Amino acid sequence: MIPYPELSGYAAPALHAHGLYIGGTWQQGGGIPVLNPSTGDVLAEVPDASTEDAMRAVAAAEAAAPAWRATPARRRSEILSRWFQLMSEHAEEIATLIALENGKALPDARGEVAYAAEFFRWYAEEATRIPGEYRHTPSGSHTILVDHEPIGIAVLITPWNFPAAMATRKIAPALAAGCTVILKPASETPLTAYAMARLGAEAGVPPGVVNVLTTQNPADVTNAMLADPRVRKLSFTGSTAVGRTLLAEAAKRVVSCSMELGGNAPFIVLDDADLDAALDGAMVAKMRNAGEACTAANRFYVQAGIHDDFVKGLTARMGALRIGAGYDPATQCGPMITRRAIEKIDHLVSTAVRLGARVTTGGAPLPGPGYFYPPTVLENVPAGARIAREEIFGPVAPIYRFETEDEAVQLANDTEYGLAAYLYTRDLKRAMRLGKRLETGMLGINRGLMSDPAAPFGGVKQSGLGREGGVTGILEFMEPKYYAVEF
Ligand code: NAD
Repeated sequence: MIPYPELSGYAAPALHAHGLYIGGTWQQGGGIPVLNPSTGDVLAEVPDASTEDAMRAVAAAEAAAPAWRATPARRRSEILSRWFQLMSEHAEEIATLIALENGKALPDARGEVAYAAEFFRWYAEEATRIPGEYRHTPSGSHTILVDHEPIGIAVLITPWNFPAAMATRKIAPALAAGCTVILKPASETPLTAYAMARLGAEAGVPPGVVNVLTTQNPADVTNAMLADPRVRKLSFTGSTAVGRTLLAEAAKRVVSCSMELGGNAPFIVLDDADLDAALDGAMVAKMRNAGEACTAANRFYVQAGIHDDFVKGLTARMGALRIGAGYDPATQCGPMITRRAIEKIDHLVSTAVRLGARVTTGGAPLPGPGYFYPPTVLENVPAGARIAREEIFGPVAPIYRFETEDEAVQLANDTEYGLAAYLYTRDLKRAMRLGKRLETGMLGINRGLMSDPAAPFGGVKQSGLGREGGVTGILEFMEPKYYAVEF
């Protein structure tokens, strides 16, 4: 394993920002250690915001709101475009920062930066195309005009697994819509969020339009903001369990919520699939971010005729991946985020093995330092095992055999989640027929990667409410206003 670069040595000075960012000023401080999951060492320390800090951020967002709302769409668009350019120029430094604090392999980190930056470009374009309506009532009584107004101050809460992209997927549409925001990134990965705020300021985002807070006490800080009448929107990405709690909290003041929650994606391979294409797709769907993705394939359902070849092929590919520190250029599978994550994965795998699953590669945590779990394939997994019901969030591929299409649909839908699903077959008619029966917000047909800023990202059932990205993502930060006009 190579030694990790000094935090001060790898990046442009513009990216060294570890302080609360409120009203355009940085407030230095400590309290939250940021760990390098590749070694377990402390990388940096960031401030631990109090509820008073959160109220200052709400006040700053409130003070900046009238001018930002009144800023012409073209100007907002130009600022977002500039932010896109700056992220692209600093792509390598941001990718290194992500690899350091999150642990993901550099190719994944580079992919994330490119994806994250694209939200600024996409919403720079959408900012100038906010839709309205003009209709006549069927009775002829009057005319209906519908305008879309910015919803108001938005609280944005993001997870650690995509520290750049989950933030830009919210900030870009919110700013395009004319809202001011308070971002609360995960305390495991705050450095990327602060670095991006720096670039935003450089791009021309006025003080107070974007505020960033890190805290070790997210419940109190968030609840204080949700209780404030100036806050009108909560956009959350994270686990279903925390999402439920936040929905209950937001209900007290009927705050509008967009929720991007957990997943349990089935990856279905039909007998007639192109085996190599299915294996390529499986590696992407499973191993992007070493499995720490909400869209990660969590259950592989493979039809009997192709099952054994698929197990053999996936075992060979997973077993060949190079494991190492995220920032080591040779690494293909980085560490998990924390020691707790390893313990959870280990528990799911060992329980499945006790129930009769067979390990074909990997199967046990690796010794430290760092939080490493090897790419693992399990076959003969009983459908009722816990690993089939819970998000694994790691590099483990449990494979289940099925016989008929009906069986595949029944197994795939047997979960409270409905974020993403994957389907491999050479027969497009069959794919569309099955696709209609799958309870999912997104379906990859002969593709292991579906995320795209131009597409609506989100889930059904307990995977969430609303969509991010695409042409509708901006409307999550707007309220329609209906004018009944008689003339
Ligand atoms: P998490 O729910 O533990 O935390 C997410 C964020 O919420 C963090 O910023 C955390 O500090 C904050 N938080 C935790 N408790 C809170 C509370 N009581 N009040 C307010 N904020 C609170 O999730 P995580 O472990 O950081 O991320 C992994 C989860 O995120 C997985 O379930 C994954 O599927 C999900 N995820 C979903 C999407 C999506 O688009 N649907 C994308 C990425 C990750």
